[in-house]
Amino acid sequence: MSWKIIQRYRYILEEERGTIRKDWGGRLAIALAYPNRYHLAMSNLGFQTIYTVLNSFDHVVCERVFLPDPEDMEEYQRTNTPLMSLESQKPLQDFQIVAFSISFENDCINVLKILEMANIPLMSEDRGENHPLIMAGGVVTFLNPEPLSPFIDLFIIGEGEEILGEFLRILNHCLEKGLGRMERLEYLGKEVEGIYIPQFYEVGYDSQGRIKYFQPKGGLPDKIKSGRLKEVDKYITQTQILTAHTEFSNMFLIEIGRGCTHGCRFCAAGFIYRPPRMRDWYRLKDMALKNMHKTLKIGLVGAAVSDLPNIPTLCQSITCRGGKVSLSSLRADTLTKELLEAIKEGNSRAIAIAPDAGSERLRCVINKGITEQDIIEAVCMLVEGDIDTIKLYFMIGLPTETNRDVEAIISLSKRLKHHILSSSKGKRIANLSLSVNSFIPKPFTPFQWVPFERVKLLKEKMRLIRKGLKGERKIQVTFDLPKWAYIQALLSRGDRNVGKILMAAHKLNGNWKEAYKIVNVNPDFYVYRKRDFDELLPWDFIDHGIKKGYLIEEYKKAMECKTTPICQPESCQRCGVC
Ligand code: SF4
Repeated sequence: MSWKIIQRYRYILEEERGTIRKDWGGRLAIALAYPNRYHLAMSNLGFQTIYTVLNSFDHVVCERVFLPDPEDMEEYQRTNTPLMSLESQKPLQDFQIVAFSISFENDCINVLKILEMANIPLMSEDRGENHPLIMAGGVVTFLNPEPLSPFIDLFIIGEGEEILGEFLRILNHCLEKGLGRMERLEYLGKEVEGIYIPQFYEVGYDSQGRIKYFQPKGGLPDKIKSGRLKEVDKYITQTQILTAHTEFSNMFLIEIGRGCTHGCRFCAAGFIYRPPRMRDWYRLKDMALKNMHKTLKIGLVGAAVSDLPNIPTLCQSITCRGGKVSLSSLRADTLTKELLEAIKEGNSRAIAIAPDAGSERLRCVINKGITEQDIIEAVCMLVEGDIDTIKLYFMIGLPTETNRDVEAIISLSKRLKHHILSSSKGKRIANLSLSVNSFIPKPFTPFQWVPFERVKLLKEKMRLIRKGLKGERKIQVTFDLPKWAYIQALLSRGDRNVGKILMAAHKLNGNWKEAYKIVNVNPDFYVYRKRDFDELLPWDFIDHGIKKGYLIEEYKKAMECKTTPICQPESCQRCGVC
């Protein structure tokens, strides 16, 4: 046991406000693990929400666990200390449940690291009665849990808030009845909607490695219906713990709603969080004002924050009390003078908008629903509002993309710079900061059948953009690394066999290149292969309520460059969710 780590954890706790402390006596102990460092985890509202929800049950004590920082990692290894929770510094082996909250595919490898550091067998089948139950939830797992399925005993598929209550009730019943580990898992898989127990599902493959069948053993359901929060206002989704030692340092985050009306065809969140559900704005105002004594920095988060009716009034009610508002996302077509005024009063110096594609044609393909004129008007408005840095998000490798579309990113950026110069009128000239990322075809979107762009081509497209904007003052460009995007695509689109690559990459300390060589599973088969509409996809057993036929229809419309109007839940039934 390392005294140094214990002291460091105590220091972190002293720096926090809102930590929940509970006695263990007789309670179900759950370690909520974030598979990355504290600094990132504590800005994740989903992680904080599940911490609050689990601790809201009187019979539960939930503590947090993180991937240690490099210096702590060394200390853990040097002293041979098993991984500990933050709150009580108890080893993970002492908990009855270890629950992972996973938001990013590239964090999956850290799940294995955490289990290893806790001396818990990595494979689900190797765990016995005395090991904690290993659970996982979070958006990565309800898009496609399969690459992680050899390591996880139980997945929570869907929005956790509603499923967790029923899960805990049934688990209690199992414990009271004295059921063993496997009986407990089987019972939970049968009785609780939204629970997926991979060990109880058998997968068969054809000679080419495509899935031939996916079937439950015993009486478990064929399809796992994902959990969905019916009344968003029933739960408060906001920061529980404030700390300076995180990305959004001392910022109080409030979720304005779930889902998004726009149906951008590349966006998984826009499909799996359907229907769009906005919170009542009076309630949001109440949440903000009640917590402003803790911090004046309020962050409003959601898929399309500027779509919230009354958003300018909400922002003003915060800024007029001395608060500073930060918005996670702005749509170019919903930016108004009133909203900008409110953002300005909150002292925001940088604002991001996402054209996503450079050409009008490609924006139609992805159903972005904004025109070049919308983007220009938004940028001019931001300049007039004295914003220093305008961030623009673009993707490369989108379906049907040609070099002309990539060149359109360059020409649009130059035109925007021209508009910035002419709107600046003697003021300080705003910077244009481009963030260019590789498109990942995600499950449950109309693009789930398309292949990931070849890494070689992505690099060429990046070179084209770099060259096209070389020497342009006031325009900066950053790119993601295609090799990491490739791994993200592999974990998004893979089946159970990809778990073997994940295990090898873990054993090789994250050397994926070597892992691809030593495992007899071809990663390109998952990443670069176009899938047929009638192929059984690894994630097809999850039911998010969206009809596959609707996704196919949307795919075909994309290929014909036709757009689809926004969601209108009161009158529309087209995708099957409402
Ligand atoms: S049924 Fe219509 S309104 Fe409801 S989520 Fe689907 S597309 Fe949107």
